Amino acid sequence: MQEGGTRLREDSLLHREAHSSKENSNGRASLLLKEGPNHMNIVCLDLEGVLVPEIWIAFSKESGIPELKRTTRDEPDYDKLMKWRIGILKEHGLGLREIQDTIAKIDPLPGAKEFLDELRSITQAVIISDTFEQFATPLMKKLGWPTLFCNTLEVAESGEITGYKMRCEKSKLTTVQALQSAGYETIALGDSFNDLAMIQAGTNGFLFRTTDQIRADHPDIPAFEEYKDLLAAIKEVL
Ligand SMILES: [Mg+2]
Repeated sequence: MQEGGTRLREDSLLHREAHSSKENSNGRASLLLKEGPNHMNIVCLDLEGVLVPEIWIAFSKESGIPELKRTTRDEPDYDKLMKWRIGILKEHGLGLREIQDTIAKIDPLPGAKEFLDELRSITQAVIISDTFEQFATPLMKKLGWPTLFCNTLEVAESGEITGYKMRCEKSKLTTVQALQSAGYETIALGDSFNDLAMIQAGTNGFLFRTTDQIRADHPDIPAFEEYKDLLAAIKEVL
Protein backbone atom coordinates (compact mmCIF):
# COMPACT_ATOMS: atom_id res chain seq x y z
CA MET A 1 0.00 0.00 0.00
CA GLN A 2 2.75 2.40 1.01
CA GLU A 3 4.63 1.66 -2.19
CA GLY A 4 1.52 2.34 -4.23
CA GLY A 5 0.96 5.63 -2.41
CA THR A 6 4.52 6.73 -3.06
CA ARG A 7 4.26 5.85 -6.73
CA LEU A 8 1.06 7.86 -7.09
CA ARG A 9 2.62 10.84 -5.38
CA GLU A 10 5.70 10.61 -7.58
CA ASP A 11 3.49 10.51 -10.66
CA SER A 12 1.71 13.55 -9.34
CA LEU A 13 4.98 15.41 -8.74
CA LEU A 14 6.21 14.55 -12.23
CA HIS A 15 2.94 15.85 -13.58
CA ARG A 16 3.38 19.08 -11.65
CA GLU A 17 6.96 19.48 -12.81
CA ALA A 18 5.74 19.16 -16.37
CA HIS A 19 3.26 21.93 -15.61
CA SER A 20 5.94 24.09 -13.99
CA SER A 21 8.41 23.85 -16.85
CA LYS A 22 5.63 24.80 -19.24
CA GLU A 23 4.98 27.86 -17.10
CA ASN A 24 8.75 28.60 -17.05
CA SER A 25 8.72 29.29 -20.75
CA ASN A 26 6.50 32.30 -20.20
CA GLY A 27 8.32 33.37 -17.05
CA ARG A 28 5.45 32.88 -14.62
CA ALA A 29 6.67 29.79 -12.79
CA SER A 30 8.12 31.48 -9.72
CA LEU A 31 5.08 33.64 -9.20
CA LEU A 32 2.73 30.68 -9.55
CA LEU A 33 4.79 28.48 -7.25
CA LYS A 34 4.85 31.18 -4.58
CA GLU A 35 1.11 31.59 -4.78
CA GLY A 36 0.40 27.89 -4.57
CA PRO A 37 -0.28 24.90 -6.82
CA ASN A 38 -0.69 25.80 -10.48
CA HIS A 39 -3.29 23.15 -11.22
CA MET A 40 -6.93 22.93 -10.28
CA ASN A 41 -8.22 19.96 -8.34
CA ILE A 42 -11.61 18.55 -7.70
CA VAL A 43 -12.28 15.70 -5.28
CA CYS A 44 -14.90 13.23 -6.51
CA LEU A 45 -16.48 11.33 -3.65
CA ASP A 46 -18.59 8.23 -3.55
CA LEU A 47 -21.54 8.65 -1.16
CA GLU A 48 -22.68 5.32 0.30
CA GLY A 49 -20.09 3.62 2.45
CA VAL A 50 -17.90 6.74 2.41
CA LEU A 51 -20.09 9.52 3.86
CA VAL A 52 -23.37 7.80 4.68
CA PRO A 53 -24.38 4.18 5.38
CA GLU A 54 -25.61 2.00 2.49
CA ILE A 55 -29.08 3.50 1.96
CA TRP A 56 -30.91 0.29 0.94
CA ILE A 57 -29.43 -1.70 3.83
CA ALA A 58 -30.36 1.04 6.31
CA PHE A 59 -33.83 1.26 4.77
CA SER A 60 -34.20 -2.52 4.97
CA LYS A 61 -33.48 -2.39 8.72
CA GLU A 62 -35.73 0.62 9.34
CA SER A 63 -38.64 -0.80 7.35
CA GLY A 64 -38.20 -4.37 8.57
CA ILE A 65 -38.11 -5.74 5.01
CA PRO A 66 -35.06 -8.04 4.94
CA GLU A 67 -35.34 -8.74 1.18
CA LEU A 68 -34.24 -5.15 0.52
CA LYS A 69 -30.76 -5.97 1.87
CA ARG A 70 -30.00 -7.45 -1.54
CA THR A 71 -27.34 -5.31 -3.23
CA THR A 72 -25.26 -5.24 -6.41
CA ARG A 73 -22.99 -7.83 -4.81
CA ASP A 74 -25.87 -10.33 -4.91
CA GLU A 75 -27.34 -9.10 -8.19
CA PRO A 76 -24.82 -7.43 -10.50
CA ASP A 77 -27.50 -6.47 -13.04
CA TYR A 78 -28.52 -3.05 -11.67
CA ASP A 79 -31.64 -2.79 -13.83
CA LYS A 80 -32.87 -6.19 -12.66
CA LEU A 81 -32.09 -5.31 -9.04
CA MET A 82 -33.93 -1.95 -9.18
CA LYS A 83 -37.02 -3.44 -10.85
CA TRP A 84 -37.06 -6.13 -8.16
CA ARG A 85 -36.74 -3.49 -5.39
CA ILE A 86 -39.55 -1.41 -6.91
CA GLY A 87 -41.72 -4.55 -6.95
CA ILE A 88 -41.06 -5.19 -3.24
CA LEU A 89 -41.93 -1.58 -2.37
CA LYS A 90 -45.21 -1.88 -4.28
CA GLU A 91 -45.99 -5.17 -2.53
CA HIS A 92 -45.56 -3.44 0.86
CA GLY A 93 -47.49 -0.35 -0.21
CA LEU A 94 -44.45 1.86 0.29
CA GLY A 95 -44.05 5.01 -1.78
CA LEU A 96 -41.51 7.77 -1.92
CA ARG A 97 -42.88 9.62 1.12
CA GLU A 98 -42.52 6.58 3.40
CA ILE A 99 -39.01 5.95 2.13
CA GLN A 100 -37.98 9.58 2.64
CA ASP A 101 -39.46 9.53 6.16
CA THR A 102 -37.34 6.48 6.91
CA ILE A 103 -34.22 7.82 5.27
CA ALA A 104 -34.63 11.04 7.27
CA LYS A 105 -33.80 8.96 10.37
CA ILE A 106 -30.50 7.79 8.87
CA ASP A 107 -27.48 9.87 9.83
CA PRO A 108 -24.21 10.41 7.95
CA LEU A 109 -21.34 8.27 9.23
CA PRO A 110 -19.74 9.74 12.39
CA GLY A 111 -17.20 12.40 11.37
CA ALA A 112 -18.36 12.53 7.74
CA LYS A 113 -19.75 16.07 7.85
CA GLU A 114 -16.66 17.45 9.60
CA PHE A 115 -14.45 15.72 7.01
CA LEU A 116 -16.49 17.10 4.12
CA ASP A 117 -16.63 20.62 5.61
CA GLU A 118 -12.85 20.75 5.96
CA LEU A 119 -12.34 19.25 2.51
CA ARG A 120 -14.64 21.85 0.92
CA SER A 121 -12.77 24.64 2.70
CA ILE A 122 -9.50 23.68 0.98
CA THR A 123 -10.57 22.43 -2.46
CA GLN A 124 -13.56 21.72 -4.71
CA ALA A 125 -15.58 18.58 -4.06
CA VAL A 126 -18.46 16.79 -5.73
CA ILE A 127 -20.32 13.66 -4.69
CA ILE A 128 -20.84 11.21 -7.56
CA SER A 129 -23.29 8.46 -6.61
CA ASP A 130 -25.41 5.72 -8.17
CA THR A 131 -28.26 6.56 -5.79
CA PHE A 132 -31.33 8.73 -6.51
CA GLU A 133 -31.72 12.38 -5.63
CA GLN A 134 -35.07 11.71 -3.89
CA PHE A 135 -33.34 9.29 -1.50
CA ALA A 136 -30.20 11.34 -1.01
CA THR A 137 -31.87 14.71 -0.30
CA PRO A 138 -32.45 14.21 3.47
CA LEU A 139 -28.81 13.09 3.78
CA MET A 140 -27.53 16.05 1.76
CA LYS A 141 -29.31 18.35 4.21
CA LYS A 142 -27.41 16.69 7.07
CA LEU A 143 -24.14 17.06 5.15
CA GLY A 144 -24.66 20.81 4.56
CA TRP A 145 -25.94 20.56 0.95
CA PRO A 146 -22.79 19.51 -0.95
CA THR A 147 -22.98 19.19 -4.75
CA LEU A 148 -24.43 15.82 -5.72
CA PHE A 149 -24.42 14.14 -9.14
CA CYS A 150 -26.71 11.09 -9.10
CA ASN A 151 -29.83 9.64 -10.74
CA THR A 152 -33.55 10.26 -10.41
CA LEU A 153 -36.67 8.23 -9.66
CA GLU A 154 -39.89 8.33 -11.62
CA VAL A 155 -42.68 8.88 -9.14
CA ALA A 156 -46.46 8.88 -9.71
CA GLU A 157 -48.67 11.57 -8.15
CA SER A 158 -49.74 9.00 -5.55
CA GLY A 159 -46.10 8.76 -4.45
CA GLU A 160 -45.64 5.30 -5.96
CA ILE A 161 -42.19 4.73 -7.45
CA THR A 162 -42.83 3.60 -11.01
CA GLY A 163 -39.33 3.57 -12.44
CA TYR A 164 -36.00 5.37 -12.49
CA LYS A 165 -33.74 7.27 -14.83
CA MET A 166 -29.96 6.84 -14.84
CA ARG A 167 -28.11 10.07 -15.71
CA CYS A 168 -25.74 8.36 -18.16
CA GLU A 169 -23.87 5.10 -18.75
CA LYS A 170 -20.95 4.41 -16.35
CA SER A 171 -21.78 7.73 -14.67
CA LYS A 172 -18.87 7.82 -12.21
CA LEU A 173 -16.18 7.36 -14.86
CA THR A 174 -17.97 9.56 -17.40
CA THR A 175 -18.34 12.40 -14.89
CA VAL A 176 -14.68 12.25 -13.84
CA GLN A 177 -13.60 12.32 -17.50
CA ALA A 178 -15.91 15.30 -18.14
CA LEU A 179 -14.36 17.19 -15.20
CA GLN A 180 -10.88 16.40 -16.57
CA SER A 181 -11.86 17.76 -19.97
CA ALA A 182 -13.02 20.91 -18.14
CA GLY A 183 -9.43 21.40 -16.90
CA TYR A 184 -9.55 19.73 -13.49
CA GLU A 185 -7.27 17.13 -12.00
CA THR A 186 -9.53 14.63 -10.27
CA ILE A 187 -8.89 12.93 -6.96
CA ALA A 188 -11.53 10.21 -6.62
CA LEU A 189 -12.38 8.19 -3.55
CA GLY A 190 -14.75 5.34 -2.89
CA ASP A 191 -15.25 2.03 -1.15
CA SER A 192 -16.47 -0.37 -3.78
CA PHE A 193 -16.12 -2.06 -7.18
CA ASN A 194 -18.16 0.63 -8.91
CA ASP A 195 -15.66 3.30 -7.78
CA LEU A 196 -12.53 1.68 -9.23
CA ALA A 197 -12.89 3.15 -12.72
CA MET A 198 -13.14 6.75 -11.49
CA ILE A 199 -10.33 6.21 -8.97
CA GLN A 200 -8.00 4.79 -11.63
CA ALA A 201 -8.91 7.50 -14.17
CA GLY A 202 -7.40 10.29 -12.01
CA THR A 203 -3.89 11.42 -11.14
CA ASN A 204 -4.61 10.36 -7.58
CA GLY A 205 -7.30 8.24 -6.00
CA PHE A 206 -7.99 6.51 -2.72
CA LEU A 207 -9.99 3.64 -1.29
CA PHE A 208 -11.89 4.28 1.94
CA ARG A 209 -13.27 1.56 4.23
CA THR A 210 -13.15 -0.92 1.38
CA THR A 211 -13.28 -4.72 1.53
CA ASP A 212 -10.24 -6.92 2.15
CA GLN A 213 -10.73 -8.36 -1.34
CA ILE A 214 -10.63 -5.00 -3.16
CA ARG A 215 -7.68 -3.88 -1.05
CA ALA A 216 -5.79 -7.09 -1.93
CA ASP A 217 -6.68 -6.88 -5.63
CA HIS A 218 -5.56 -3.22 -5.89
CA PRO A 219 -2.42 -2.79 -3.78
CA ASP A 220 -1.47 0.23 -5.92
CA ILE A 221 -4.39 2.30 -4.59
CA PRO A 222 -3.75 3.76 -1.11
CA ALA A 223 -6.50 2.62 1.26
CA PHE A 224 -7.63 4.31 4.48
CA GLU A 225 -10.02 3.59 7.33
CA GLU A 226 -10.16 6.95 9.12
CA TYR A 227 -11.23 10.38 7.84
CA LYS A 228 -8.19 12.11 9.33
CA ASP A 229 -5.82 9.82 7.41
CA LEU A 230 -7.82 10.23 4.20
CA LEU A 231 -7.83 14.02 4.58
CA ALA A 232 -4.06 14.06 5.21
CA ALA A 233 -3.49 11.99 2.04
CA ILE A 234 -5.68 14.34 -0.01
CA LYS A 235 -3.88 17.41 1.35
CA GLU A 236 -0.58 15.86 0.36
CA VAL A 237 -1.56 15.58 -3.31
CA LEU A 238 -3.38 18.92 -3.67
MG1 LIG B 1 -20.02 3.14 -1.97
